[in-house]
Amino acid sequence: PIEIDHSKTSEKGVCPMDGNLQNDLSEVVANDKAHVWHHLIQHKMFETADPNIIVEGKGMRVWNQAGKEHLDAVSGGVWTVNVGYGRESIADAVRDQLVKMNFFAGAAGSIPAANFAKRLIEKMPGMSRVYFSNSGSEANEKGFKMIRQIAHKKYGGKKNKILYRERDYHGTTIATLAAGGQHERSAQYGPFPEGFISVPHCLEYREAAQDNLGQGESYGLRAANAIEDIILREGPDTVGGLILEPITAGGGVIVPPEGYWPRVQEICRKYNILLMIDEVVCGLGRTGTWFGYQHYDIQPDIVTMAKGVASGYAAISLTVTTEEVFEQFKDASDHMGYFRDISTFGGCTAGPAAALENMRIIEDENLLENCTARGAQLIANLEALAKKHSIIGDVRGKGLFCGAELVTNRETREPAPEAKVQAVVKDCMAQGVIIGATNRSLPGFNNTLCLSPALICTAEDIDLITDAIDQALSRVFG
Ligand code: PLP
Repeated sequence: PIEIDHSKTSEKGVCPMDGNLQNDLSEVVANDKAHVWHHLIQHKMFETADPNIIVEGKGMRVWNQAGKEHLDAVSGGVWTVNVGYGRESIADAVRDQLVKMNFFAGAAGSIPAANFAKRLIEKMPGMSRVYFSNSGSEANEKGFKMIRQIAHKKYGGKKNKILYRERDYHGTTIATLAAGGQHERSAQYGPFPEGFISVPHCLEYREAAQDNLGQGESYGLRAANAIEDIILREGPDTVGGLILEPITAGGGVIVPPEGYWPRVQEICRKYNILLMIDEVVCGLGRTGTWFGYQHYDIQPDIVTMAKGVASGYAAISLTVTTEEVFEQFKDASDHMGYFRDISTFGGCTAGPAAALENMRIIEDENLLENCTARGAQLIANLEALAKKHSIIGDVRGKGLFCGAELVTNRETREPAPEAKVQAVVKDCMAQGVIIGATNRSLPGFNNTLCLSPALICTAEDIDLITDAIDQALSRVFG
């Protein structure tokens, strides 16, 4: 049974954990404005407005510096706080571990890392080894390095190209941006390393804009076959890896169509290409299974994860491989024959300690089941909204990972203007509900509302979220 204590959050506007919100936080705001460089925002706006400082959180709700309560439908902004805010048991587990042994990097191991690796691998049949680091970007970089090292070791350096898909995102470092399908994110940061090649996206709703998928067969097969065409164009002996999100997140909540994944797996096997799946968003329960790829009966070679692994209670990311991949880094006769990589904070024990407790909570509170049930409700509510608001062109998602694409004309599928989509997000915020929208990195496609409430959400929370969207759409689009 799912037990969520909402009693403390019923009093609107009063933070349950700390009565200090009456205290004046204007000094904090001033310090922030003077010295903090916020992510993802044009700072000019802070000349006329204050930053939103999130002061406390409990369950599904957060409070800002003004004491205003918000229902968080995006799990900390970016699909992260899967078990909700204010989890004392995770804080306790981290504290207990830190006072015992906080950190030792390099070749040394730790008790929570060993225990968490075992528990994780139990959830990932066919996978075997866990490499610790501390951000999604970093976990993906490790995967790229593994693919490249195998190319050098086994194929004389030739099989080094890595394919990535349009609209997918794999991180913010220079190499992960080179593998990124959201081009406004990378436009100002070149030059990039060579050997990253794009393949078409698999959003059926936007098929008309794709001119390179050929004819016949189902869309899923054609979108997958387009990958094979690119492998043949590049030369199969030059392609070592393919990185894909199981369900594209910030690029539009794209659930791959029927037939896509099995064909992708087949193509990778045919050309001996390592299949690397980026579970940074879907990882640990977001779609109702432990991992997004587990909906599709496929066997990856490398899986990366970060955000939901410890629900944001500590920084942790992982690059998980099969034993077959790992075996290729064990040639003791070659002084270069091991993985010559380190992540300093991969040696911090807070991450695996938090991850162990995070996983226990997901299991003991049946949060995968709750995710599936509440996700179905969220999709049904959004579909009902689509009947009322013609601005909603497409509703898609899996589990508590949903999107509603806004179009000004259902026939031409003309994307709704970004400013109006942002106005919907703002209107919901004013109502006390935090929702998201597609990354502002896809010109012409910044038109999908993104929803990813924590896996603990109740039926009432889901209705509150979609009621807020209903009102916002009425106000913004009339
Ligand atoms: N991969 C995916 C699918 C993501 O959505 C993100 C971040 O949003 C990343 C990787 C990068 O993770 P991080 O910001 O922890 O480096």
